[in-house]
Amino acid sequence: MERYDAVVIGAGHNGLTCACYLAKAGLRVKVLERRAAVGGAAASAEFHPGFRNSVAAYTVSLLQAKVIRDLRLSEHGLRIVERPLANFLPLENGYLKVGGGLQATQRELARFSARDAERLPHYWAVLGRVADALRELALQCPPNVGGGFIDLLRALKAGRLLKALDMEARRDFLFFFTRSAGELLEQWFESEGIRAAFGFDAVVGNYASPYHAGTAYVLLHHSFGEVNGKRGVWGHAIGGMGAISEALAAEARRHGVDIECNARVVRVAQGTVLLEDERKITARAVVANVNPKLLYLELVDRSSLPPEFVARMQRYKCASASFRMNVALSALPRFACHPEPGPHHASGIIMAPSLAYMDCAYLDARQDGISRSPIVEMVIQSTLDDTLAPRGAHVASLFCQHFAPEADWSLRKQEAVERIFDVIESHAPGFRASLIAYSALSPADLERDFGLVGGDIFHGALTLDQLWSARPLLGYADYRAPLDGLYLCGSGAHPGGGVTGAPGHNCAREVLRDLGRRFPG
Ligand SMILES: Cc1cc2nc3c(=O)[nH]c(=O)nc-3n(C[C@H](O)[C@H](O)[C@H](O)COP(=O)(O)OP(=O)(O)OC[C@H]3O[C@@H](n4cnc5c(N)ncnc54)[C@H](O)[C@@H]3O)c2cc1C
Repeated sequence: MERYDAVVIGAGHNGLTCACYLAKAGLRVKVLERRAAVGGAAASAEFHPGFRNSVAAYTVSLLQAKVIRDLRLSEHGLRIVERPLANFLPLENGYLKVGGGLQATQRELARFSARDAERLPHYWAVLGRVADALRELALQCPPNVGGGFIDLLRALKAGRLLKALDMEARRDFLFFFTRSAGELLEQWFESEGIRAAFGFDAVVGNYASPYHAGTAYVLLHHSFGEVNGKRGVWGHAIGGMGAISEALAAEARRHGVDIECNARVVRVAQGTVLLEDERKITARAVVANVNPKLLYLELVDRSSLPPEFVARMQRYKCASASFRMNVALSALPRFACHPEPGPHHASGIIMAPSLAYMDCAYLDARQDGISRSPIVEMVIQSTLDDTLAPRGAHVASLFCQHFAPEADWSLRKQEAVERIFDVIESHAPGFRASLIAYSALSPADLERDFGLVGGDIFHGALTLDQLWSARPLLGYADYRAPLDGLYLCGSGAHPGGGVTGAPGHNCAREVLRDLGRRFPG
């Protein structure tokens, strides 16, 4: 039987982050990964000879600057570049560009509404203030409801943070956590294009209409990041998202972490994990990077958990309705509304011109499993990174919503692909003719290939009942499981999904506290 101080189940970026901090503190750490490569949803791969791209996650912002610094990711070769333009939206009568600075965006908005252009700085200031508070909370352990003295201190710390906000900012905070993105954006702006540009973040990975309560939070969740010190900006990791995981794995190995791929864990008990090949590994701390539903309902013997905990876990909500494609292209798409090449090709190209369009996409998926006109974001990574495609050719990621997780994906995958291509072709005639190859992941593929239950890209919906002190469940928000020595370090723990490194960072701190070690961060 192999023995370690800590064993981490899953080499997703959070598992690797956690392993790095544990090993830096002097623990002997083993990481077990089911797949053939590290990274989980933050990985890169060749999907057609000569064409590589990020496999699942495709754009970076939420990765915590502290994690990048502490774990020397730049020294391990990680390079993140900013997009020249945040977003480009083909619209019915023209297009909208967002980004490239406040004044440039205001000039763009003024073509549709002088009032919207005028209101933009105020909107960004409000969003920025609330996002700043969220950013600070991201690296703190939430107070456990019903916990002890330390949880009281954590509650006071969080309270102090909110107290530092003025009353208006507190009201905004409450609004973002409870209201819909539709309400938020319709209050601020009158033109459809800008509402759609900002509303897209509210339905990314979120099986909801932008008019559903709680979607304003998902929009906010996508705003607490930064790229190279610039807040709220999204960028590209050279080599794809796998470069982040590779850098984390390099740092982990530097500290002696033993990372084993093709090593599927089939059972977890107190201080022990059992592998598919029947090997047993014991450790003082067992740290799970997997979706909480997978951990508590499939890996841990349910009879060792409180029955009410198991019942709640069965109701833990996982559902994203996301469909992910990579395409290899012989040429850049020519958008009918803006045919010439330009910075818009290096932006997040959102093909969803209004909140009403997004609402329809949701209602269609609810009714028929697949949106008639899906919401498509295209990012052409090869415009920012020449390591991904042969010279003159391109790769793009397509991140598409809404595709019901419960639809029969063994029968309907090709239908989904065709609808996505139809949307792109309608904006960029000739797109289909430029296709060299593509790969496609349905919600069922995301579950099968990555362990993302219900295809949920965040390891659990980002709804108020599953956030902060309630993630994954009220009473278990401090990364500790109801089984001694078992911890959760994945996106099912605070602060939730996205390539952040935050749950891995925070969980390591709690493991080390229990083992009487100093946190090296
Ligand atoms: C299609 C898609 C697009 C996304 N786009 C973005 C984006 O652009 N930007 C962004 O910031 N976020 C994005 N996200 C979200 C983000 O990628 C995830 O929330 C995040 O990567 C999850 O990281 P994690 O380490 O918590 O878990 P995971 O990456 O899910 O890692 C868990 C690991 O555990 C392994 N595992 C599971 N079961 C076992 C077992 N029994 N034994 C051993 N190992 C096991 C899995 O194989 C996996 O490697 C996207 C996600 C998806 C799916």
